[in-house]
Amino acid sequence: MEMAISPGGSLAEAMKGFETRPGQLRMALAWADALESSSILVAEAATGIGKTLAYLVPTILSGRKAIVSTGTRTLQQQLIENEIPLLREAMRHPFSCVVLKGRTNYLCLRRWNRFREKPLFEFAKEDTYFDAMHEFADVTRTGDISEARGVPEDARVWDEVNSRSEMCDPFSCDQTGRCFLAEARRRAASADIVVANHHLFFAGLSLRARIAGAEGESAGEGYGEVLTRADAVIFDEAHGIEETASLFFGVSVSAGRARELGRDLSRAASVMGSFGSGLLSMVKQFCLAAESAFGAAAEEDGRLPLAGLPGRALFDERAGFLMRAADELSLSLSDGPSEALGVERDALLRRVRSFALDFGSVLSADPLLTVAWAERRGDAVSLHRTPVEIASVLSDSLWKEPIPFLLTSATLSVSDDLRYFRERVGLDRVEPREIIVDNEFNFAERALFYVPKGFPGPSAPEFSSAASSEVRKILECSGGGALILCTSYRTLLALKTALRGEVPYTLLVQGDAPRAQLLKEFREEEDAVLIGTGTFWEGVDVPGESLRCVIIDKLPFASPSDPVTSARILALQRREVDPFFSYQLPEAVLALRQGVGRLLRRGDDYGIVALLDDRIVKRGYGSRFRTNLPPMKWTRDRADIAAFFQRFRTARSQPNPSKEDEE
Ligand code: SF4
Repeated sequence: MEMAISPGGSLAEAMKGFETRPGQLRMALAWADALESSSILVAEAATGIGKTLAYLVPTILSGRKAIVSTGTRTLQQQLIENEIPLLREAMRHPFSCVVLKGRTNYLCLRRWNRFREKPLFEFAKEDTYFDAMHEFADVTRTGDISEARGVPEDARVWDEVNSRSEMCDPFSCDQTGRCFLAEARRRAASADIVVANHHLFFAGLSLRARIAGAEGESAGEGYGEVLTRADAVIFDEAHGIEETASLFFGVSVSAGRARELGRDLSRAASVMGSFGSGLLSMVKQFCLAAESAFGAAAEEDGRLPLAGLPGRALFDERAGFLMRAADELSLSLSDGPSEALGVERDALLRRVRSFALDFGSVLSADPLLTVAWAERRGDAVSLHRTPVEIASVLSDSLWKEPIPFLLTSATLSVSDDLRYFRERVGLDRVEPREIIVDNEFNFAERALFYVPKGFPGPSAPEFSSAASSEVRKILECSGGGALILCTSYRTLLALKTALRGEVPYTLLVQGDAPRAQLLKEFREEEDAVLIGTGTFWEGVDVPGESLRCVIIDKLPFASPSDPVTSARILALQRREVDPFFSYQLPEAVLALRQGVGRLLRRGDDYGIVALLDDRIVKRGYGSRFRTNLPPMKWTRDRADIAAFFQRFRTARSQPNPSKEDEE
């Protein structure tokens, strides 16, 4: 392995510009060792050390069947489009690799055949996609809807024809032999490396945990089986696994799911003759009850604990109506004449029962172990039951497997210690091996950290207008090329309003276009300004001039009123552990490290980070943030930012002597 990755090794020979980096070799050797001894390795690997090659090379050489699970689609694409093809060429060790996506990403031929006979577009304007869908269905060999030309991946019509567990019964399906999903799973089962993502992995794992009672997935062919039949698992972007695992070991149920079920029941009932008209009125009752219950759970945008819901009694009453409506539907479907119900009956019945089960399970959440909460985003309302702590679940269901695991990310440690991450994901009981590979970028020379002087506190009423004015001045110094990371939608919207038309740069704002499109435009336009929150704090990888300035509005403490955060705080208080120092502060430190990590992505990058929150210098806990950031120069004087950019502009405009010599 050392031979492959060392200077003059096969990678250096085959890959133009490949340079061995000491940190990369260290990590590769540590992972090779863990593969050999079936151990768990936690590896924090700073940006730029080449961690993907550091784990892929030893994995391929080990001959183990491995799952690489990523946190973002960006990294998944990068692996498939860059690293894997490079390694195929560079290594004299043949290996197969496939991407496995969630089932809704694949066309279901059975649903497509029905749809094309009677196309029903929920959104009339999408009917222009029909010809392109037809063409795709005729020629596709993978059924992967992202490959369909002329139909956006997020078009609502895909919901009519994609593969759904609740609508799939391979035993009665006349397309089983040609099923794209089954084929994707077969390919994954025989591949040496499967590139998946955390959502898919934990969905599979939680399914396996529930497999005895699972409906719609058989143990032999489900994702749980494919994903957990590996001899090695690599979690890249491992900082996200706690949240994703919590999501999938919990339960979620949405108003959209109720609407979709109601719509499919209505369509089926409309062709059932006299039995259908009785059923139709029950479906109407069910739909009304669902709208009313979900509406009472979350009247405004945001996340709320069900326990503290204003008007909880009203919600309980409406939830009761919904459960009764679902029971009646279920009874009617199971007792109805089978000749009237046709082949759809079992699938519809299964969906009604599974909806009622999930809804009931959110209502009966154990408050000591789980938190029940509601979320509204515009018209989308969902209810969730989330485990408060996932550590014991993961240690029981995952870490006890006798295979090597690698958990890697650029941000796992707090104060050079991986204990916090270890504890959150249940690894403290198994004592994993650990390694921290530091940054090799020259932060001291190529980066500057700025905190404005005399700035209003983050909760002061004048914060928003001061932030807009400060951002404008910073952008004047950098000439654009900025990523603005907000801690809330409110700040994002305030900045959008304040900057639109006021700055001479293209303004890209989260929510105005799909994330991938915003990032593409941001990358391509050197002076654009991108404003984002949430997912934009991580996974944004924009090397070069386009990202030379990161502006952060506030220290990224999770809101204590968030239902999951507040349940975790309460759980720690019950154990007499200080939640601020043991949970809120380390979480915020890791989040800030993530945000700052967007700045330098390559050795020749440069830029500034501006934080509009002087608690980092004024408060006692500020030192925890400061000592966890890369070793940059700090300033409180905006003139230093202007001078910093001037220095790099001058350097860029100087002729490059080595190039001149070459000429
Ligand atoms: S097996 Fe399931 S996913 Fe595959 S074509 Fe049939 S119904 Fe669709």
